[in-house]
Amino acid sequence: MPPERPSRPAGHDNSRIGIRVTKKNQEIAAGLAHLRGHGLDKGDAVALPITLASMYHLPGDPAGFNQYGRFSNPTWEAVEAAFAHMEDAPVVIFPSGMAAIAAALYTTLITGDRVLIPSDGYYTTRMLAERFLLPMGVTIDTRPTSGFCDEDFEGYALVFVETPSNPGLDICDIEKAAVQARRAGALLVVDNTTMTPYGQRPLDLGADMVVAADTKAPNGHSDVLFGHVASRNESILSAIRDWRKLAGAIPGPFESWLVLRGLETLELRFDRMCGTAALIAPRLAGHKAVRAVRFPGLPDDPAHNLAQTQMQRSGFLIGLTFKTETATEAFINETPYIQPATSFGGVHTSAERRARWGDAVSPAFVRLSVGCEPAEELWSAMQRVLDGL
Ligand SMILES: *Cc1c(COP(=O)(O)O)cnc(C)c1O
Repeated sequence: MPPERPSRPAGHDNSRIGIRVTKKNQEIAAGLAHLRGHGLDKGDAVALPITLASMYHLPGDPAGFNQYGRFSNPTWEAVEAAFAHMEDAPVVIFPSGMAAIAAALYTTLITGDRVLIPSDGYYTTRMLAERFLLPMGVTIDTRPTSGFCDEDFEGYALVFVETPSNPGLDICDIEKAAVQARRAGALLVVDNTTMTPYGQRPLDLGADMVVAADTKAPNGHSDVLFGHVASRNESILSAIRDWRKLAGAIPGPFESWLVLRGLETLELRFDRMCGTAALIAPRLAGHKAVRAVRFPGLPDDPAHNLAQTQMQRSGFLIGLTFKTETATEAFINETPYIQPATSFGGVHTSAERRARWGDAVSPAFVRLSVGCEPAEELWSAMQRVLDGL
């Protein structure tokens, strides 16, 4: 039997490209706070109960009921409804960002396909492709994010972009990538981890799929790994759902519940984080101890103009390069309101030198994830350390 491949809807629906009928963040956030409330019966708990279940009571014909814990779970459904509300698209949740990315790749690629991925994006996506897809006969090509759309996508079955890229914060034009992908008959997948649906809406710009690590800002409390896939293409989504059910990459109900709790404050946290990043990025750029700053919100950043057209906010990640690796380590480890840690998007500001993982960046480069601390307190703490470098 030939493998079933998710297909585009007939006639390649271009209707959404360029239209930007984007739901407003305020509308999304207000609706999210009342999503469950509107479906409650008298006496129901206002907060979502956690359903821990492998078995469900299932006499007779099982059709239409919860059957088994790998197939469905009421806590997952509530979290998927929340993400679907935010993405304005059906969503399937996963136990990590990589589980979501793996689902997107494994449900759409077969032997003989070519896939294009960023050379400067999250390194595990590249490792997954090279370690497992390549030996299955999938050809992997890479391009830098900043020049991703410079050549066409002819011959690719799938094009994967990450914008702004982690860690370099380069940007590529999602709408242009969507147009090029459609012309080439390729599926466009966008990793939207660094922006969240409140900062950037790739499906509205024409992407076929969004994947994201909700481990980062959406959960926001540095205690859960999580991910999701969103798509308005039903054949893609149903393949993703089958993948989770058959491969068993299912999220735990408790983790799902924690993510829902995180989502309830995401708009508030994201607003604070992006606002503080926009306040301190120019101050960092103006400090003598700092050699270079990457932040899409700075007018002289190479990504600035494009960021203005496709991002609602400039994000909460700042790329900083100091003069030496020692100065970099001192900034990270001596600033009392910086948590030295890998990963990002928590309520606490965190930072790390990405070169320690082998990313192709200067040894003096730091990825700073701005948290929810009051902005001036955070800046004073940073400034005291910077002044001593
Ligand atoms: C963290 C991250 C991932 C992977 O997410 P996990 O939850 O760690 O599996 C994927 N893409 C990007 C851009 C990330 O930052």
